[in-house]
Amino acid sequence: MRELGLRTLHWPKQTDSLVRMADGRLVTMTEARRDPLFDITRSWALPDEPVLPGDETFAAYLTRIGFTPEQLHYVRRSFANATGEDADQFSADATLLEITDTSNGEGDYRIAEGQITPIEHLAQGLDIRLNTRIQRVHWSETGVTVSTDQGEFTADRAIITLPLGVLKAGTVTFEPALPPEKQAAIDGLRMGTSMKLVYVLAESPLPREIAALYSDRNPPMWWTPSFGRESDQIVWTALVSGSWARELLALGEEAALQRAFETFRIEVGRPDLQYVKAMWVNWPEDPFSLGGYSIVPPGAVGLREQLAAPTGNTLYWAGEATALRASASTVHGAYSSGKRAAGEIISAL
Ligand SMILES: Cc1cc2nc3c(=O)[nH]c(=O)nc-3n(C[C@H](O)[C@H](O)[C@H](O)COP(=O)(O)OP(=O)(O)OC[C@H]3O[C@@H](n4cnc5c(N)ncnc54)[C@H](O)[C@@H]3O)c2cc1C
Repeated sequence: MRELGLRTLHWPKQTDSLVRMADGRLVTMTEARRDPLFDITRSWALPDEPVLPGDETFAAYLTRIGFTPEQLHYVRRSFANATGEDADQFSADATLLEITDTSNGEGDYRIAEGQITPIEHLAQGLDIRLNTRIQRVHWSETGVTVSTDQGEFTADRAIITLPLGVLKAGTVTFEPALPPEKQAAIDGLRMGTSMKLVYVLAESPLPREIAALYSDRNPPMWWTPSFGRESDQIVWTALVSGSWARELLALGEEAALQRAFETFRIEVGRPDLQYVKAMWVNWPEDPFSLGGYSIVPPGAVGLREQLAAPTGNTLYWAGEATALRASASTVHGAYSSGKRAAGEIISAL
């Protein structure tokens, strides 16, 4: 984001977080990290043990190298929740490549002006059509015609950035059908189940410098986007993935919001706390995403590269599912994949 000239806030340095430990104590992140049970999910001091031939799930790998049930529970609460699925759903091979990849830099940052600003910045001067639903992509070696509910658009080349969930559902048809290796990449990767629950509160339930809370319950991760913003509104958000997300999704919006808020009340020690308004963000059922973000199931290492590879000289591929290792499934991965695809077109010209 610095590349775009945007002001950022360094998340860990300027905030503190609270963590509910396995023994029931609520401690700061600094204290939690002194506990080797907890810290192993952050520092990943793993033995040099290869994954089984043909791959295995990350949960199976961790169990095999001796992770205790408490450690596995921490993995579920923090790492797996952020990865977008339960650890028995994603590849050990891909995960080890990801956690040993340091190319993402030294930490998490928030864009001070808000998440929309980089998009507005990049969109300046471009002819961008919003609210235009793509239905069909007709492609050949010489060009592409995209049919939408607002008419047809023709070009020499196209960069496809449809979410993996939409590609998997086949709600946008490709004519002719995509080559088998491209379809195999789409079929072989998976969308994780991730959602958010967002609450507006009338009062701050925790000191203002506490920006996140890691619970032992569902939802496991809470954070406040109000941090660093001049606003009277106090907003707390829960990020939930995998089977915990499926459990809440099955309840419907109102009941899920209430059930999740019970966890928040317990964690902040305020049984009387009420929210002013709330909503969920249900990406798994949103037809324009159909999932949270991509994961690599066991045996599918290499399929991100396969999805990213150009199709002839006409279709180029970008989006988070085409980003590699630690960049995959992130905003910065989606951004850099777009630059990579644009570079491929420039090289081909
Ligand atoms: C709950 C949650 C929390 C996350 N937290 C973080 C985080 O903290 N940090 C981070 O870096 N990343 C985070 N991510 C991931 C990040 O949001 C994604 O990796 C990123 O947005 C992917 O960008 P993209 O351009 O590949 O796809 P998208 O942002 O999904 O963009 C694809 C676009 O295609 C459009 N589209 C779909 N179908 C059609 C159609 N038929 N016609 C026309 N348009 C269509 C969609 O409307 C959408 O605008 C989170 C994601 C979720 C779900």
